[in-house]
Amino acid sequence: MNIRNLYRAYLTALILLLTQGTLGATVKLSDNLFILYGGGGKGANVGIIVSPSSLIVIDTMVSDSRDLLLKELSAISDKEVSLVLNTHDHFDHSGNNHYFSGKQVDIIRSIDFDGTSNKFIAFQGELVIKQNERIIKGYNVRSHSNSDILYHLPEDNAVFLGDIYTDEWYPSFFSGGIEGQVAAIEKALSLGDENTRYIPGHGKIASRDDLQRYSRLCVSWHDRIVALHKQGLSPSDMTKDQQLRKIRESFANEKTNRENFDRWFEKLVENTLNSHLSLSSSAH
Ligand SMILES: [Zn+2]
Ligand SMILES: [Zn+2]
Repeated sequence: MNIRNLYRAYLTALILLLTQGTLGATVKLSDNLFILYGGGGKGANVGIIVSPSSLIVIDTMVSDSRDLLLKELSAISDKEVSLVLNTHDHFDHSGNNHYFSGKQVDIIRSIDFDGTSNKFIAFQGELVIKQNERIIKGYNVRSHSNSDILYHLPEDNAVFLGDIYTDEWYPSFFSGGIEGQVAAIEKALSLGDENTRYIPGHGKIASRDDLQRYSRLCVSWHDRIVALHKQGLSPSDMTKDQQLRKIRESFANEKTNRENFDRWFEKLVENTLNSHLSLSSSAH
């Protein structure tokens, strides 16, 4: 299995795990912004923005959640969806894209998004979306996937993170490596302030402090793995390292007792190391 296929297999398994969280409800953050919590196999969290003339949706859950998503949208407003914004191309975030593109809804995504449709609008770098008086800014970053986009809603002081951060899992910066991870968090922090609500693809709304803590943990995790690699340890040996176990436990305690965790732990280490090795070799 080559590295790309290995990532793919790993990410699919990771996505399945991430979608097994607790299913939440729709919560109102402001008159114009709602969050439909994913989890429970339903897919990622969804942002629902009410503009004067229409609805804008950030991520579209898994395809099986279409009825739930449409029901929640119509409970918020009878306006039509005019735009879908994807945080990245994983299926738990984009499962109903085709439903919306079939309804002639434009879909904004990164140029590196893995999938096609004539209703897709791809961009690279930065994008400003203006709908009536409402502004949404999109920024390409590369950390969790090749197609990561942060969406900033200045009026609501909210930033949608996709999967560059989560309080439900472990580091997954396998596309951008640690540098991409740190840069993505830095970018998200630069868009906000002490009161910004950071909405992850999975899990609870985060604060500035949560993001900073996560970024520091990712660096410790990465650095420890690279140091152990330099000492000649294999990923399997590394899972026995007390320091690395401690770092791992700081990410998400509640998941460390799951069955077969040791195998997962090794996979996490292996993926971190592989992304480090492939990114550092392509840099030279
Ligand atoms: Zn996800
Ligand atoms: Zn993802």
